[in-house]
Amino acid sequence: MIIVDEKACEAAVAIIRACEMDPRFVTVDEMDQLGARVECLACWELELEDPNHVVFGWRSAVKHQRERHSSDPGNWRMLTASEAKVARDEEGKIQGVIPSDQKVWLCLHCLDLPAEESWKTLEDVESHVQHRHDVEIPRANQDYVKDFAAPELYAASTLFEATVVEFPE
Ligand SMILES: [Zn+2]
Ligand SMILES: [Zn+2]
Repeated sequence: MIIVDEKACEAAVAIIRACEMDPRFVTVDEMDQLGARVECLACWELELEDPNHVVFGWRSAVKHQRERHSSDPGNWRMLTASEAKVARDEEGKIQGVIPSDQKVWLCLHCLDLPAEESWKTLEDVESHVQHRHDVEIPRANQDYVKDFAAPELYAASTLFEATVVEFPE
């Protein structure tokens, strides 16, 4: 569960409502399975000249709201089915950069904290532990773990990142 603070919680409620789900009853799993994509309208209004839309899965939307717009629950729009397809295609291209079976490492120091990040390669998780947590020699199962569920969940892991897309007119 990534929603741990109250501000993030408000953001999650707004995002879940934008996805036409009921925040009182919907579960995290159901939101993941829904696979909706949302656009941050606050960012859209700031960049009127920019044809690009900044879109998110719901988890990364919560994160974005906290990091960029902090105080209010935000203003979100669920993408239409055809827009969401454009967004997913774009995510697919990004995914292609690193084979999913290598991005399976999680930092144990960050696990279940608001700072929780998505899966990393071994190289990335080691350098993350060294720099972020001041551990000189990171050890498996002590500082980081291999998450055997990760390859399967890899599609969901990209929901942690914003995707920038341009929709056809
Ligand atoms: Zn925004
Ligand atoms: Zn960490």
